[in-house]
Amino acid sequence: MKEELYTIPLMDAFRENDECPFCYIERNVEQNALDFVLGSDASYMQDHVRMETDRIGFCREHYRKMFAYGETLANALILETRLKFLMKEMQKEMKGYTVTSKVGLKEKLKKDVDATRSSNNVSRWIHEKEESCYICNHIKRNYDRYVATFFYLYKKADKEFIDLVKNGKGLCLHHLADILDAAPLYLNEKEQVSLREILFAQMEANMERVLGDIDWLEKKFDYRYKDAEWKDSRDAVQRAMQKITGGYPADPPYRAR
Ligand SMILES: [Zn+2]
Ligand SMILES: [Zn+2]
Repeated sequence: MKEELYTIPLMDAFRENDECPFCYIERNVEQNALDFVLGSDASYMQDHVRMETDRIGFCREHYRKMFAYGETLANALILETRLKFLMKEMQKEMKGYTVTSKVGLKEKLKKDVDATRSSNNVSRWIHEKEESCYICNHIKRNYDRYVATFFYLYKKADKEFIDLVKNGKGLCLHHLADILDAAPLYLNEKEQVSLREILFAQMEANMERVLGDIDWLEKKFDYRYKDAEWKDSRDAVQRAMQKITGGYPADPPYRAR
């Protein structure tokens, strides 16, 4: 099956001139997933969707975002059948409680909690559930297609796209790692070198720019600069945070429209 490429929305994300186009994409994809799960087209009333959300569930972060989204009845219906699903599994796991890895004397003396993680079937089952999330899966699937599209356009040396990449503000560190990790899957050695040349220089220049904005913001707290203009420093805190770990710390919760 030929996988879809997201050429137009990817180009649009680069045109936004955000601190990181992949953060921008990730946010869109996440908001679409919330709309899909809880939104007005009521996909949660469809059996095949509910069977999936019952089985896969949601992570802590996405329950928090689902709560903030609103739509109390939709949340309640989804939670009702997820709880029933979990209770059935939990009963089975508890009945078959087994220690799966023995704790040694060294761990006992050091009270090394990491070493006892998932040392029985019940906690292992819980940890597995915590890592399982319908929305995370949805984001990952879509995000991976955007990464594939990025490399498709890069490899094809699409002039408009390469210019957009070159004239952008680089990526955040989190998404830079994703792109570097994926590069060998799509590009030959030479292409990887030329991509690194663009991205590395861009990351240095743009971290420097963000640092400059932070410096200026600090100055604005000094009475001598009280009447100086803000330049680009007003939102420097959220942009610096984004540059380092990705995401949008200043975003209000995304709510049902
Ligand atoms: Zn990012
Ligand atoms: Zn999640």
